[in-house]
Amino acid sequence: MSRKAQRGKNNRPLTRPMRARVHSRCSKTGKQRYYDQLEAMIALQSTFQTDKGKRQERRFYRCPFCRGWHLTSQELRLAPTG
Ligand SMILES: [Zn+2]
Repeated sequence: MSRKAQRGKNNRPLTRPMRARVHSRCSKTGKQRYYDQLEAMIALQSTFQTDKGKRQERRFYRCPFCRGWHLTSQELRLAPTG
């Protein structure tokens, strides 16, 4: 009867933070993906201060592909080109 000592595998305390809002990227658009509207809004406002000279993001929108939120520099239009 061989009985292994069960230790070392599930004996580790959970150190993973509760707020696992990892900013992944959208596989469809390749854009930075935000968790919710509020995060997108904050990120948008931060670009007003930091991204001077670069392309200016104008608004945020809900992505139908990843269900996340993205920033865009394009004005709202019904038929986006490109
Ligand atoms: Zn997306």
